[in-house]
Amino acid sequence: MQDIKSFTLEELKNEMAGMGEKTYRAKQIYQWMHGKLARSFDDMTDLPLALRQRCASLYEYTAVKSVKVQESAVDGTRKYLFELGDGKLVESVWMKYKHGNSVCISSQVGCRMGCAFCASTLDGLERSLKPSEMLDQIYAITLLTGERVSNVVVMGIGEPLDNYDNLLRFLVLLTDENGLHISQRNITVSTCGLVPGMRRLADEKLQITLALSLHAATDEKRKKLMPVANKYSISQLMDACAYYFEKTGRRITFEYSLIGGVNDSRENAAELVRLIKGMNCHVNLIPVNPVKERNFVQPGGTFTTAFKNELEKNGINVTIRREMGRDIDGACGQLRRRQRAFR
Ligand code: SAH
Repeated sequence: MQDIKSFTLEELKNEMAGMGEKTYRAKQIYQWMHGKLARSFDDMTDLPLALRQRCASLYEYTAVKSVKVQESAVDGTRKYLFELGDGKLVESVWMKYKHGNSVCISSQVGCRMGCAFCASTLDGLERSLKPSEMLDQIYAITLLTGERVSNVVVMGIGEPLDNYDNLLRFLVLLTDENGLHISQRNITVSTCGLVPGMRRLADEKLQITLALSLHAATDEKRKKLMPVANKYSISQLMDACAYYFEKTGRRITFEYSLIGGVNDSRENAAELVRLIKGMNCHVNLIPVNPVKERNFVQPGGTFTTAFKNELEKNGINVTIRREMGRDIDGACGQLRRRQRAFR
């Protein structure tokens, strides 16, 4: 069965025409799915019953089920464990900021990138998510919290650029005026650095933010943390970032997880300065979330602030990312792993 929630409005019009239905039905159904967040065809009460039944027999209607929620006592961040139609699990996080609510979604079930510090990749990739399944995480959270989502970050489980076509379709649907109509500028896609995907995304000329998970400023160090560094060098990455900026005018975000004794020294900060000084960019420093299967630790004492100061001294925009939800298995993929071990 075809996945109706992954169709664009134009495609849905063609579907309706093919069924001999009036094409205005397409817009009605589309708005039910993406604007009013219907959970099934049954919700679409102003549609003739016969049409609803016909759609239900022809199309798959995806929905995610919340199987676990953890709420941080510290900052109200909520982490949801969602079950997909085939029983597989993904995580999404809801964060409340002064400027609005932000949702972090997963793009794959598992991941095949193999980053040394990350819990999502420990069992490899199971499958990629469909556009509808990425949307469903946001739709479910909107319904569960009763609050509008204004920002979306694709930074949960998975490598979004390893699921490129579905990601792009998801972005089109998410920003569509007949759906949640989320502004492109409020969307961030984070990648471990798949250069061809970064360049392809640049060519789409969207106004979304591209975040690059850098974590080290030399190839030698990066290779120790991220297998993808064996495939693409930092110089190729920097060229791709420059290309992204050239095509979109959007400044790049660099993610840098600080790991005690691994990439957090003053010398490491100086290496990063040499690499990005003068670039139109922003650096997010994230003290590593310890994952129990790995023995990485957070920087000691004043290392994080010293690292930040070194960047600032050189005119680089930098924030230390608040560790939202540390008390609730905040690190990517940890909740899912625990639940699976439990089953
Ligand atoms: N695959 C994409 C997006 C998912 S990971 C990417 O690599 O960017 C989202 C971010 O969390 C990445 O920057 C990733 O490197 C980082 N990350 C993963 N595990 C972490 C951990 N245990 N502590 C801190 N950051 C982590």
